[in-house]
Amino acid sequence: MSYQLAIHGGAGTILRSQMNADIEKKYHTALKLALEKGKQCLKSGGSALLAVELAVSVMEDSPLFNAGKGSVFSAAGTHEMEASIMCGKSLSAGAVAEVSGVKNPVQLAAKVLSNSEFVYMVGRGAEQFAKEKGLVFENAEYFATDFRKLQLKEAQEEGRVQLDHSKSKERKFGTVGAVALDLSGNLAAATSTGGLTNKQYGRLGDSSMIGVGNYANNTTCAISCTGYGEYFIRAVVAHDVSAMMEYGGKSLDEACRIVVQEKLRTMGGEGGVIAIDSVGNICLEFNSEGMYRGFVNENELKTLIYK
Ligand code: ASP
Repeated sequence: MSYQLAIHGGAGTILRSQMNADIEKKYHTALKLALEKGKQCLKSGGSALLAVELAVSVMEDSPLFNAGKGSVFSAAGTHEMEASIMCGKSLSAGAVAEVSGVKNPVQLAAKVLSNSEFVYMVGRGAEQFAKEKGLVFENAEYFATDFRKLQLKEAQEEGRVQLDHSKSKERKFGTVGAVALDLSGNLAAATSTGGLTNKQYGRLGDSSMIGVGNYANNTTCAISCTGYGEYFIRAVVAHDVSAMMEYGGKSLDEACRIVVQEKLRTMGGEGGVIAIDSVGNICLEFNSEGMYRGFVNENELKTLIYK
């Protein structure tokens, strides 16, 4: 069996007419870097769980994506990040939400998985846990970019909460995620986000919710989502794909298509998923204009933006 890794950097209204060669190149380079990091791990026999953590960490470190450095601002002008990770072999999972200052939220989620008796930690408690486990912290300036400041200013002037991929914006930065199949046949998934610009009241999205924005199960698939969280939560997207395979006998492609192109579309939910099944089939399905995405295996490395 060969290894497989797929990643996304957010889905949304990514129009060719609104990009230029320079910005496109930056995205392709960043996606490639994440794929190569994960590939190194998988190729040398590393676990899918570690590969997705490494690939997502690379994207969290890039200011291009809405996760880690470059996360969007909340209404209070803070960064409240969320992340999750799941192992398809053991069905163990770790998730964190409303965390500030933690350089790599996905690494904190991985620590929750491997080093605690809990699955989901939020806010100050999660930050306390991060300190105890020796995770790297950064100050607010590290996470901030001029573009995110502008996005917050615009959203506040217009009095709205803004999805990172909102139609009115020219530049689209998004949530990140990775799914992998390792040489031992194990699956894993990880997802990380800064959420929505100008979010209030402790709003959480789907990205940190196991079974919603992230899920992995060796009997079916590994899946990571990006899009309008409110819809993804109500459609319980990630587990729905897995359940269709497990109980409905659907293929990975069919299950992803039904959830993304039928269920979500009917509800009005824009976004996409990346998924890998237990025999290494990959599906990158989205109902928006584009999705920053890519995959790598023994023979091929590919990054894509548009339909
Ligand atoms: N799903 C994320 C959320 O709703 C947003 C995104 O995918 O960019 O928080």
